[in-house]
Amino acid sequence: MILKIKDNRLWFPDGNIVLCGKPSADSKNPKDEYPVDNVVQVHFCVHKSVLARHSQVFRDMLDLSSSEAVTSGESYEGLPLVDLEDSASDLNALLSFLYEPCSLSMKRYDPDTPLRVEPILRMASKYQFDGVRNAIVERIKEDWPANYREWEQFEAHIDALSRPLDVGVPVLDLLIPEPASAICLARRYDIHQILPAAFLALSSMRIAHDYDKHRAMGDDGVNPPTTADVDYILPTDRTARWSLLDGRDMRILCRVREYLHVDLWTSFAQNSCSAQCEANHRSAVLSLQKMTVDFGDIYRVLESKVAKPNLCINCKSKFANELANIRTMIWPALVLLVNYSKLT
Ligand SMILES: [Zn+2]
Repeated sequence: MILKIKDNRLWFPDGNIVLCGKPSADSKNPKDEYPVDNVVQVHFCVHKSVLARHSQVFRDMLDLSSSEAVTSGESYEGLPLVDLEDSASDLNALLSFLYEPCSLSMKRYDPDTPLRVEPILRMASKYQFDGVRNAIVERIKEDWPANYREWEQFEAHIDALSRPLDVGVPVLDLLIPEPASAICLARRYDIHQILPAAFLALSSMRIAHDYDKHRAMGDDGVNPPTTADVDYILPTDRTARWSLLDGRDMRILCRVREYLHVDLWTSFAQNSCSAQCEANHRSAVLSLQKMTVDFGDIYRVLESKVAKPNLCINCKSKFANELANIRTMIWPALVLLVNYSKLT
């Protein structure tokens, strides 16, 4: 027997069109409001004028004017019915955003934002709800620095967040955006502006530091994971949803790391005034490079004491200029590397 239900929240008494969505193919998704076992079809009663106002596809569809043309004559409780191939969960996400935009939590730096907005972006892209799509994309872009200057401010903000954390509770990464899901979203919906920052964030993370594993239950299925289940991580360690990255993006990540660990340091000019300054200069550059390889965190390396070597005043000034130059080189290089470049 085909079970048909109404979505009570998105059933407007003065609505004049009924949209019907199917159960999600992914019945294991705990956030799916319509589990496949319980429901076959979910109906939403909304307004033609609202759909037409926001969506080019619905505008064209409804411009065919007669309801019969749109719905092939089908109706539900006396209203024209549009049977869609999309899941009821996706339809719910889109209509909720359209009618109750405040119902979607999109607080800044929330690591779950990419997963939360993906159903809306999927539907908005398919049906050309351009305003909805642009609003979500702009919100996603706000979470990621757009240049190295903004990156420095972003990392300074993270430093401030890291200080009061309790030992033993891995919570920093609940307060900062998660890069792998952001990259995945950016690839699918062409939000390439966030890729340099997301890859730079990933470049300093260890692959054992997995966002989901450290939040899943331990082997007993009840308690949080123990050191026997996963590598121990510090409260200030950052984690990523590594399993979301495809092979191409993993190769790009390797290339970004190569650039930061090796290529970046070959640009230092070595024209010091004396043998002593030359030796100290070389030693400082090698130390900075080694720190980058060991810790992966270019921002903190460039801000470290090692970046202030013992040089005469002239060579110190030249070295400061070289570091400033390094800072200006990083972002353009990342932009080239992350946009598939020659790796694909
Ligand atoms: Zn000197």
